[in-house]
Amino acid sequence: ILEARDIKVDFSGHQVLNGVSLAVNRGEVIAIIGPSGSGKSTFLRCFNLLQSPSAGHLTIGDTEVFSGSSSNIRSRDLLLLRRKVGMCFQSFNLFPHLTALENVVLAQVRALGRSKRDARTRGMQLLDRVGLSDRADMKPSQLSGGQQQRVAIARALALDPEIMLFDEPTSALDPELGVEVLAVMRELADEGMTMIIVTHEMHFAEDVADRVIFMADGNIVEEGTPKKVIRNPEHARTRKFLSAVI
Ligand code: ATP
Ligand code: MG
Repeated sequence: ILEARDIKVDFSGHQVLNGVSLAVNRGEVIAIIGPSGSGKSTFLRCFNLLQSPSAGHLTIGDTEVFSGSSSNIRSRDLLLLRRKVGMCFQSFNLFPHLTALENVVLAQVRALGRSKRDARTRGMQLLDRVGLSDRADMKPSQLSGGQQQRVAIARALALDPEIMLFDEPTSALDPELGVEVLAVMRELADEGMTMIIVTHEMHFAEDVADRVIFMADGNIVEEGTPKKVIRNPEHARTRKFLSAVI
């Protein structure tokens, strides 16, 4: 349902993605792993065009949203893409002056034009789903990092995305708090949500991902089942990385 083909990105002449391709099937969970600076975040951001590639193609469903250059992206297509592709970052970016529930409600009213009432109902359902219905009226500063990240996940889900992108959602958290976030993500995976997850949690990737992508130096070096890529990597570069992190 989402396909990136031959994506290149350069930052002031320095190429950080050298033509990478990835097609995501409905219901599939993909983990992207690799060393710092390999281009994982940059690649992930290309999937909702938060990052404009310098070349390549991006297709969602039957719609080619990006082809060759950012000058011909149609705003209608960009809206469609952003509507269908939700994202959670390492930093949660909640509005500090709003409660958990208000954070989840706001985007629904603004982006989907939902009534406040419907948005609150849906918001409470989702806060319940991430285990925070009792924290709905608290401000982000009154919540732990793990709770804030779960609010951020609820907020993204409130827009009914077809695909969720996660960029190291637990890396800013203490391990105990990360566990709660990973549990929510695991549930989403079990329910059939399509997800692309940049993660350094190898055990999580091994358990939850259908496919693991190993990136280094702006390329996809190796991809396959977790068993193959994490347990039996073919490439020396993959082995070197894994021996340093496992
Ligand atoms: P990490 O594991 O540390 O998050 P990453 O694999 O996500 O790393 P990216 O953030 O995608 O790596 O960065 C890839 C390369 O692009 C790095 O060399 C980085 O310095 C460079 N880069 C990223 N964003 C920018 C930017 N906005 N301007 C210039 N260079 C950038
Ligand atoms: Mg990154």
